[in-house]
Amino acid sequence: MTPVPETLWHATAAAIPPFPPLAGGAEADLLVVGGGFTGLSAALHAAEAGLRVVLVEAEGIAFGATGRNAGFVVPNFAKVDPDDVRAKLGEPRAARLLAMAAGSADLVFALIRRHGIACEALQSGWIQPSHSDAALARARERVRQWQALDRPAELLDAEAVQALTGVRGWRGGWIDRSGGVLNPVAYARGLALAAAAAGAAIHEGTPVTALEREGQGWRAATPGGDIRATKVLLATNAHAGGLWPRLARSFFPLKVFQIATEPLAPSVRDRLLPGGQCVSDSRRNLFTFRFDAGNRLITGGMHILGPGAATRVPRAILARMARALDLPEAPRLQFSWSGMAAVTPDFLPRLIEPAPGLLAAFACNARGIALTTALGPELARWAAGEPADNLAPPLAPLRAIPFHGLARMAPNALLPLSILRDRRESPPGLAR
Ligand SMILES: Cc1cc2nc3c(=O)[nH]c(=O)nc-3n(C[C@H](O)[C@H](O)[C@H](O)COP(=O)(O)OP(=O)(O)OC[C@H]3O[C@@H](n4cnc5c(N)ncnc54)[C@H](O)[C@@H]3O)c2cc1C
Repeated sequence: MTPVPETLWHATAAAIPPFPPLAGGAEADLLVVGGGFTGLSAALHAAEAGLRVVLVEAEGIAFGATGRNAGFVVPNFAKVDPDDVRAKLGEPRAARLLAMAAGSADLVFALIRRHGIACEALQSGWIQPSHSDAALARARERVRQWQALDRPAELLDAEAVQALTGVRGWRGGWIDRSGGVLNPVAYARGLALAAAAAGAAIHEGTPVTALEREGQGWRAATPGGDIRATKVLLATNAHAGGLWPRLARSFFPLKVFQIATEPLAPSVRDRLLPGGQCVSDSRRNLFTFRFDAGNRLITGGMHILGPGAATRVPRAILARMARALDLPEAPRLQFSWSGMAAVTPDFLPRLIEPAPGLLAAFACNARGIALTTALGPELARWAAGEPADNLAPPLAPLRAIPFHGLARMAPNALLPLSILRDRRESPPGLAR
């Protein structure tokens, strides 16, 4: 097994006993491949519905993006608003997907309460400050559209954003009060324990190496034995690898860096985010920040890759944060790590059914904690017999993105242009 990644979350989450690798064969109604939020939530809800569930994870629970994110719980889509969803999907599909997204953060915090998961969870709200007048106009629209879906969304003027964040210069912004923060590794481990308590068999260190149709079901090969299952869920996200042809070329894998500082002095901590929310602003080169329970500042971002990126990028991200938050001096870095997110061409979650009884569910476009959790009950309905086309996320054909090898470089290659455009639009008072 690959060593546990050096993230803040792995270092601070309470350990749980390891789930043993599969030894010998197994049979299941549902085989879940992947121990991230998508697989864990699906396994939990399917087991609670009375299905025989086996979940296998090649490495350890929360090895992928699930253990490497920033712990922002955000109940909306990265670049798409409700009206865009309606225009793209039409009704009733749009209504189903919007209802799933709208309730997604509430579901996360409800599961945490119901299963008593100790994961530093705080339903304090998610704030999106606006870096320009045009962005503030978009925020006004976003608030209108999410309020129409009964969401606790509020428009904020510049003073309100400054009071909530402790940062000057943004034009205003908006908040969804159902969002919040958590320790994602602790949350994932809690979901795994809840799924196991509901009857799911979980095996870490158990990669599925091949999948074959067998009768009406599937046979999955693992080093410790074969698993026969009526249905198989591929919850492998950006780690899809070569398990199913073309799946890995149906989305853009995006490398994202995260850092955490050493705990800050109370004088600095008290000035910033007194309400404990998380912040992602409206810039193309997104600026994000939050605190963990130990008063460490957490931020992240994309960067131009290349030689030395593993040390160069965290330092550049730290320097940006110190400027943006007007810190008296750059705090010391305590943790830096990176992870792979899966981005779809339309920035919406999607399901792909490459063959009968085989479903891939992935790509929550860096809004994964809430949306992947909310996928769980949907995927459990599929496992119990509901056609995939009736679920909330759209069912898309398995299609490789043309020129995938080149197109996957685009987000990083275009970053300098994005930074230039952000600068042109931002007021002089907003630190970069
Ligand atoms: C750096 C970063 C920051 C982010 N920040 C946020 C944030 O703050 N808020 C938010 O909402 N979202 C965020 N996201 C997105 C979010 O983390 C993801 O959308 C979410 O974790 C995806 O979960 P998943 O279960 O679909 O996939 P993953 O967590 O990636 O899990 C896939 C798993 O499948 C396993 N696997 C793959 N192949 C096999 C196989 N053959 N056999 C067995 N197992 C296999 C892998 O080992 C892996 O553990 C961020 C993502 C990144 C990378």
